[in-house]
Amino acid sequence: MIMNYNNIITRFAPSPTGELHIGGARTALFEYLAARSTGGKFYLRIEDTDRARYVEGSDKRLVEALEWLGLVPDNIDDIVTQSKRLDLYRKYALKLVDEGKAYICTCTKDELKVKGEELKLSGKLPGYDGTCREKNIKIEDVVNRPGTLLSGEKRPQLASDGDYVIRLKMPATGEVVVDDLVRGDVKFDLSLFDDQVLLKSDGYPTYHLASVVDDHEMGINYVLRSEEWLSSTPKHIILYEALGWDQPKFGHFSMILAPDKSKLSKRHGATSVEEFKSLGYLPEAIINFIALLGWNPKDEREFFSLDDLVGEFKLKNLNKAPAIFNIEKLNSINAHYITEEILNPKSEILNQFQNFKLPNIQKAELNLIGRGGYKTLKEAAEYILKLRQTPEYVAGILVFKKSDQATTLQALRLVQSKLPTIEQWNNETIQQSLSVIVENNNLTNGDVFWPVRVALSGEEKSPSPVELALALGKDETLKRLNLAIEKLQ
Ligand code: GLU
Repeated sequence: MIMNYNNIITRFAPSPTGELHIGGARTALFEYLAARSTGGKFYLRIEDTDRARYVEGSDKRLVEALEWLGLVPDNIDDIVTQSKRLDLYRKYALKLVDEGKAYICTCTKDELKVKGEELKLSGKLPGYDGTCREKNIKIEDVVNRPGTLLSGEKRPQLASDGDYVIRLKMPATGEVVVDDLVRGDVKFDLSLFDDQVLLKSDGYPTYHLASVVDDHEMGINYVLRSEEWLSSTPKHIILYEALGWDQPKFGHFSMILAPDKSKLSKRHGATSVEEFKSLGYLPEAIINFIALLGWNPKDEREFFSLDDLVGEFKLKNLNKAPAIFNIEKLNSINAHYITEEILNPKSEILNQFQNFKLPNIQKAELNLIGRGGYKTLKEAAEYILKLRQTPEYVAGILVFKKSDQATTLQALRLVQSKLPTIEQWNNETIQQSLSVIVENNNLTNGDVFWPVRVALSGEEKSPSPVELALALGKDETLKRLNLAIEKLQ
């Protein structure tokens, strides 16, 4: 195939059956990048034709999650929703019936079940046996008001007492080759496909019909989606041929697997974008992380903004092998972006802590987080909330390993009397006061800085005493020093 990646017009077509899964987000991202990097279009289509699986409100939440990630579709004000286009699909299904390329099937569910059993018993592949294929049943025979089913209407009354569906006449033999942009040529033996349902008995189209009709109507020239849909593509190709339409190009993204190579699921932790958001992952981090699940820049770079990705992304750099979801990697990328945000004076990250029960975080507290390498905003917020509580610890940890109790007590007392004299409570003044105590009293840094740090944090490992003192403020710092002295005496 000649690779001519210009003006890729593609779509993200989620089914509103739940939250936006990390895999769905990755699909949307790759589609977005394919479109944006080639001056094309990225559309959103809600595929809600499976009414049994519809989850109320999930379509709205899908859109919100996409917007939060920054993957705003070009048709955000006019999203294509399949349940609103039922007459369109019916029109094409009936056209195919008229042309003898599809047919009406009145086999009931019970009959299909029996046929399925028979096929299985005779060692054949399960599927529809084509009973109605040559019966030439007319729409008038099954619907008493021909062609009047409009979107939103209830199922038509049937002339017969059985339901009907419309099936595509699949070729009985032969081969279809999907020329896949990621996977190369993939061959399918057509004898393995039965006559596919296009229009269901509830008046809704199947995924196959709706997908092909909409991709055609929306001018989609690249159908990009995840690998799980690859086996549907031969059916779609037959349908394009039956409808006399040009096929788009196809590309199927590799699966995302858990570290144990199993399908990524709830038992591996958070999987939806909403969950990641509520745990305090930043959208920039999620985008960066999912971009690397199947795409790579062919060098060692790790960090990419959405704009960087638009500049760098190439469909031909996608991996065929499955991508492995590594939460440690996501955590380190998130920690990087949290730090970056904190160092950015224009950042609005302060406000984001409101979502983590920390409405009034101070700049000095934020600086502590910036140093701490916290994996998530939630973890960072929990740390600050804990820091605000009077620490509990055993007195022994106040003494530095190369110091002793008496020296530690002496150092803490010196600090206790020195700090109240500081007028401007800032980095330099605190740092200087502590250093002066070290120098003037023939003490070591460990004698002084260590116990002050433990006194303020209650922990052996923590940020520097100066940063802690700044975050806690003068009064609280003195209170904690007193407490430490009491403990040691
Ligand atoms: N509705 C399908 C899904 O939920 C879309 C498949 C496609 O992109 O064609 O993933």
